Amino acid sequence: MRLHENDLATEALRPGDDGYDEAARVFFATGRPALIARPRDPGEVATVLGHARDRGLPVSVRSGGHSPVGHSTNDGGVVIDLAHLDSVEVLDAGRRLVRVGGGATWGRVAAALDPHGWGLTSGDTTGVGVGGLTLGGGIGWMVRRHGLAIDNLVGARVVTADGALVTASAEEHPDLFWALRGGGGNFGVVVDFDFVAQEVTTVHHGTVTYQVDDATVLLRRWRDVMRGAPEELTSSIALLPQAPGSPRMAMMLLCYAGAPGSSVADADAAIEPLLELGTVVSASITEQRYSEILEDAMHPPAGVRPSARNTLVPVLDGDTIAAIDRLWGAAPTVIAVRSLGGAFARVPADATAFAHRDAEAMVVCMLLQPETASDADVEQALLPWREVAAHGTGTYINFQGAATPGDVAAAYPPATYARLAAVKRAYDPDNVFARNHNIAPAEDDLAEGPAA
Ligand SMILES: Cc1cc2nc3c(=O)[nH]c(=O)nc-3n(C[C@H](O)[C@H](O)[C@H](O)COP(=O)(O)OP(=O)(O)OC[C@H]3O[C@@H](n4cnc5c(N)ncnc54)[C@H](O)[C@@H]3O)c2cc1C
Repeated sequence: MRLHENDLATEALRPGDDGYDEAARVFFATGRPALIARPRDPGEVATVLGHARDRGLPVSVRSGGHSPVGHSTNDGGVVIDLAHLDSVEVLDAGRRLVRVGGGATWGRVAAALDPHGWGLTSGDTTGVGVGGLTLGGGIGWMVRRHGLAIDNLVGARVVTADGALVTASAEEHPDLFWALRGGGGNFGVVVDFDFVAQEVTTVHHGTVTYQVDDATVLLRRWRDVMRGAPEELTSSIALLPQAPGSPRMAMMLLCYAGAPGSSVADADAAIEPLLELGTVVSASITEQRYSEILEDAMHPPAGVRPSARNTLVPVLDGDTIAAIDRLWGAAPTVIAVRSLGGAFARVPADATAFAHRDAEAMVVCMLLQPETASDADVEQALLPWREVAAHGTGTYINFQGAATPGDVAAAYPPATYARLAAVKRAYDPDNVFARNHNIAPAEDDLAEGPAA
């Protein structure tokens, strides 16, 4: 069916329509929206938004549908599904300037940029959306070499809550541009993003599995290697749940993205120390095209309720590592520690709404419980996580499976949150965009407004 408003006909699904059930489902949630609309251009986005506003319906915006909180579906509201806004267009080959639709997936972007010998530091999963990942920050395999996805963003076109189409960049609506780079989906529907792509053809990528006798030793050695590693190397080490009767295991994922023309010997020299951290059970590292290292998402096993938490730690010190080890022993979790630094750390903390530039590492905990576990059960099982989180200075919203007002406030440094709240008030004072890690509009008007 089609939604007819203001003489526009937008593709839309309602309960009972063919394809509705599938469209109501996202990676971590199933909803029952009143309307799922698939606009084809900014005008149609504004029309659907107006439809929702006129009726006072909740609004979800969907790009790749991988929100850890299931924000991109809802019950009884409107979903603006940007699946048709998925183009990848070269605007200026000399500057490697590319325009990517707000509903494109990273697999599509990597495949489109590969023939140019380009890529974009982003995420590790093909089906994750450019919209959600970029608006949260975007931590990928080249984070130490090229920073976050937002660090390569130079502009975005946004349909704001009042239906206007505005361009946000360093020159136009700079406060909005600042807020889009880490503040999530709070400020409007981003119909496209302008990025400067990086030159990248092949990378060295793979996994190393270790048998773990003492996780604190393994993590300390890994930390020390990464402190001295070149920026071309990014790695993440995950402590895995223990299978009954099996030794404890950890798996490292790594990527070495050298400059064009760098040698295999450079990659080997950087990776070699990671193979000497402990008892290596298996290792598989190959040279691959960057576009090929992105993988399809794996759904959590049936019958399992996953709950994700993370924290950004300025220093991965002995106390933090000890707290991680205690958590690993106490609850059925995967705990991944990801190295940061390099280009990520060179961006001033107040340049983007993602402010944790001093973080040495991000610790992500994925608690795995039976699907029958209640919220109270989850909170109880996560008690040892609090000890780890106490060593962090905030969270990365995109890996945060909880989005209460307290969770969102704790994600940002207080001054960053206050600035986000002011921009929210300027661009979405009625909080039309509330199905997200929601920033409450500030009570006082402190920010620039959407210029007339
Ligand atoms: C399997 C998996 C792998 C992941 N890997 C990585 C990784 O390597 N690096 C990383 O940084 N993160 C990663 N993430 C986290 C990921 O960044 C978040 O889950 C993100 O929200 C997914 O974006 P999406 O567009 O797919 O999700 P969606 O659910 O479509 O969107 C999430 C939210 O973003 C907002 N939004 C999305 N698009 C727009 C838009 N165009 N305009 C306005 N608002 C919008 C909305 O508020 C929406 O609710 C991963 C997640 C999963 C599940």
